[in-house]
Amino acid sequence: MGETIACANQKGGVGKTTTVVNLASYLALAGERVLVVDLDPQGNATSAFGIDRTRDRSVYDAVIDEVQLDELAIDTAINGVTLVPSSIALAGAEVELTPLEQRERRLAGLLDPMRGRFDYLLIDCPPSLGLLTINALTAADSTLIPIQCEYFALEGLGQLLATIRLVTDHLNPRLEVKGAVLTMHDGRTRLSNEVGEEVRRHLGDRVYDTVIPRNVRLSEAPSHGLPIHMYAPGSRGADAYRDLAAEIRARDERPSSAPLTAVGPGLVADAAGTPQVVLA
Ligand code: ATP
Ligand code: MG
Repeated sequence: MGETIACANQKGGVGKTTTVVNLASYLALAGERVLVVDLDPQGNATSAFGIDRTRDRSVYDAVIDEVQLDELAIDTAINGVTLVPSSIALAGAEVELTPLEQRERRLAGLLDPMRGRFDYLLIDCPPSLGLLTINALTAADSTLIPIQCEYFALEGLGQLLATIRLVTDHLNPRLEVKGAVLTMHDGRTRLSNEVGEEVRRHLGDRVYDTVIPRNVRLSEAPSHGLPIHMYAPGSRGADAYRDLAAEIRARDERPSSAPLTAVGPGLVADAAGTPQVVLA
């Protein structure tokens, strides 16, 4: 059974989507079968995979009309990554969910039948603690929390951890904090380093050793509809997300994977030997 991980932080712009998209890609390159659920009305994860977010059907149809996720899931350009896309309609879902029965458990019920088909199911949450995020936390086994290395980084963390505790107490007892990942770290600034130390004091070894640096390639990749391993494979951002995927797999005691091997100009092969195009 796959592990469902909600990537959540109600603070906006901390790296949730960047983490989901690139972690999913590197997990898949290591041979994992990954489902990404874009539960954010902004649809950034959908566009980052190069998929049109003005499609008719999306995760909206799942949470509102109980359409099965396998009817909505689409293949991405990355072998091993399947996406349940977001759409603009999802913007109304918080309001439409409110009067519905079992409104916090809509996604959980629909994700269950998918768990046997994937190793990791990653949910990209919107920047709020509203009903969509609550649905993600209720459906998840664990939470991955990106924390931006900026002033105020810790301010919302208490509220997020309190929300996770409420969900654990009332809706989903199996929910755990999987880990926190420091993002947009700038090693040249004292602030970034201080925030990192402070987060580690609070969360201890739940903070991953891998730190994601601030890297312009990571911010450019989504506008090309490509994850970082295809857009800028040699970049520091690519290395960091590859390391994060490896660290998560190691902590989960997943068998270690063969490194990517170059099989030609612009081509690497993943663990399964499947060629993946790389745009240098
Ligand atoms: P939201 O809360 O709006 O969903 P988010 O938490 O998903 O935001 P992202 O969209 O991943 O955050 O990142 C916010 C912005 O910062 C984006 O423009 C993204 O490309 C950029 N970004 C993310 N991580 C990095 C990084 N490590 N280095 C440089 N830019 C980054
Ligand atoms: Mg996002």
